[in-house]
Amino acid sequence: MKFTISTQGHNDVIDITEKVKEVVVNADVKKGLCLIFCPGSTVGITALEAEPNLINDFKEFLEKLVPADKNYRHDETWGEKNGFSHLRSALIKPFFVVPIENGELILGTWQQIVLVDFDSRPRQREVIVDTYYSKD
Ligand code: ZN
Repeated sequence: MKFTISTQGHNDVIDITEKVKEVVVNADVKKGLCLIFCPGSTVGITALEAEPNLINDFKEFLEKLVPADKNYRHDETWGEKNGFSHLRSALIKPFFVVPIENGELILGTWQQIVLVDFDSRPRQREVIVDTYYSKD
């Protein structure tokens, strides 16, 4: 299953937990895995407590690790100035996997699935959510 979301870029953090849960409920998988993947080299998917202060901490943390105002060699390739966006994506990864038990995602109470758009401009993102059945 797929869904599309609009982002503002610039580390826009979007909570996609409810959309993923909806897919899992409709998939009717009792026990297995849920893979959430976004095709794109300037995007990330991870788990975070999606509250505003932690989201800001996360953005600050990314800024320290991979500063946006530094010059990257990739910026010369297409003139897009998004070398930092690609590096952040490689670090956070554009996918996330959650186990399914009793037909539900196993997530902590404060563990939301978030998509983070590292690009330097607004984007439309397609998110692929697939469920896999386990025999055990
Ligand atoms: Zn690029």
